[in-house]
Amino acid sequence: MPTETFEFQVEARQLLQLMIHSVYSNKDVFLRELVSNASDALDKLRLAALKDDLPGADVSDLHIEIETDDEARTLTVRDNGIGMSYDEVGRLIGTIANSGTAQFAKELREAQDEGGAEGLIGQFGVGFYSGFMVADEMTLVTRHAGEGHGTRWSSRGEGTYTLETVEDAPQGTSVTLHLKPADSDDQLHDYTSAWTIKDIVKRYSDFITWPIRLLPKKTADGTEGADEAEPETLNSMKALWARSREEVSDDEYHELYKHISHDWREPLETIRLQAEGTFEYQALLFVPSHAPHDLYTQGYKRGVQLYVKRVFIMDDCEALLPPYLRFVKGVVDAADLSLNVSREILQQDRHIRMMQRRLTKKILSTVKDMMTSAPDRYATFWREFGSVLKEGLLSDTDNRDALLAVASFASTHADGEPTTLAGYVERMKDGQEDIYYLTGETRESIENSPHMEAFRAKGIEVLLLTDPVDEVWVDVVGEFDGKRLRSVAKGEVDLGTEDDTRADEEREKQGEEYAALLGWMKEQLGADIKEVRLSSRLTVSPACIVSDADDLTPALENMYRAMGQ
Ligand code: ADP
Ligand code: MG
Repeated sequence: MPTETFEFQVEARQLLQLMIHSVYSNKDVFLRELVSNASDALDKLRLAALKDDLPGADVSDLHIEIETDDEARTLTVRDNGIGMSYDEVGRLIGTIANSGTAQFAKELREAQDEGGAEGLIGQFGVGFYSGFMVADEMTLVTRHAGEGHGTRWSSRGEGTYTLETVEDAPQGTSVTLHLKPADSDDQLHDYTSAWTIKDIVKRYSDFITWPIRLLPKKTADGTEGADEAEPETLNSMKALWARSREEVSDDEYHELYKHISHDWREPLETIRLQAEGTFEYQALLFVPSHAPHDLYTQGYKRGVQLYVKRVFIMDDCEALLPPYLRFVKGVVDAADLSLNVSREILQQDRHIRMMQRRLTKKILSTVKDMMTSAPDRYATFWREFGSVLKEGLLSDTDNRDALLAVASFASTHADGEPTTLAGYVERMKDGQEDIYYLTGETRESIENSPHMEAFRAKGIEVLLLTDPVDEVWVDVVGEFDGKRLRSVAKGEVDLGTEDDTRADEEREKQGEEYAALLGWMKEQLGADIKEVRLSSRLTVSPACIVSDADDLTPALENMYRAMGQ
């Protein structure tokens, strides 16, 4: 087949521009991305071989190799993993794997406006392109482990790339970067230097479970240098989740998080769990510091990585965490599962369900601890993930109390300071029996609601609930600590003070006085309403609409209508 030239997708081109004009200040991470891809390819090959999916594959010495050439100014990262077919190269390397969508272009523009575009690297599965931060040309030669011939891909990172078939390529993938001149940019290290490579690998990729070897440099006459003739393994290859807490630095945990989550920021929280006994497993879970942009979309890939005795089995194992914890990333390594487990089997598996329960409890108890030991971190957590967690109030009755205990809400009690339900109960007035809330779209619209007037006048605290899910869980949950959750917009609200008893008598008198007016209003409004009555709940507004206690609120009515019910 002749060499074919292709154009990059629009989004890919935008991204390349971004890379070339180096928005990302830390350019060293390109090596992490390439090593991470190589490691994934080795994981995939080993798993395929264990399942006998690729009979012809060579799995005898799986490893990653790095080679540099001073004279040609190149750096090569090579693996003997699963490789890619011609079609795969076009599909995976020519496009942006997880996006190709308007969403990506939109975020890219927004991020550029805010000067934070580097965050998108990785989030969209664009790790490979980061090579263009340091290279003016990238060449990839690959052969899929199940195929006889290979493919060569090459690009200068501008508008196009070329693809051609090559006859004799070794199994796996090698990526060669032609390095930009080192002096063109202060931040560009000399990536042909062994010292630099060792330093970067140690920093970012130490935990990779495959050997990463640095090949000895060739001397000028083509023979290998005498004193560094042996390839040197640069990483310790220790699975972090199998090591004790004391042995592992926070930085090492964070690098693993970045490797598996494609996030470039530090995680908010690292959670370790070692389960012993009849069903042994180890888990290393991370709570990100930011909710991903697609957390509420259908296509969101939830779940953690599943390993069985250090062998990578799958990404995004959904069965290990409930949907309302879908933002949690990490690794679970089980001692006693078949390597052939499918997603369908996992959903049914008793042990998996046991693990899910245990991991859920562990995550919730970690959040609980965070509330007292690190209130700022908890505040970030709740801001980013609170509305997802509240979905659990509907679906996970077993953990309802634990979820209510870590939930916090905007409230009228102290401006801006969210409160827990327990906090609310503590501040309840003598004689107050219920927990009051009002739902609405924004805090402001709730605060301006006429329903709030009487509560404000009497100094009774009201929770201000603005998430769509709030409408639903307050109904389903119904009460906290024996106190009913009551909307201030529903039914007669008895604020139960002496003043009210007097007010009631007065209102009765006034009722007679205003009977004619109320009758006339009822007649005018007709079937749209049930009744017109005098109220003590208003202090400033002349009138407001109130639902019956068991009626749907307007927002809930809208939601059910939207759901077609
Ligand atoms: P991501 O790793 O997030 O998917 P990348 O841009 O790093 O995004 O890589 C895109 C895809 O290209 C990978 O998902 C993988 O399918 C393929 N790929 C990249 N490098 C290799 C490699 N060394 N071996 C096999 N496939 C690779
Ligand atoms: Mg990658």
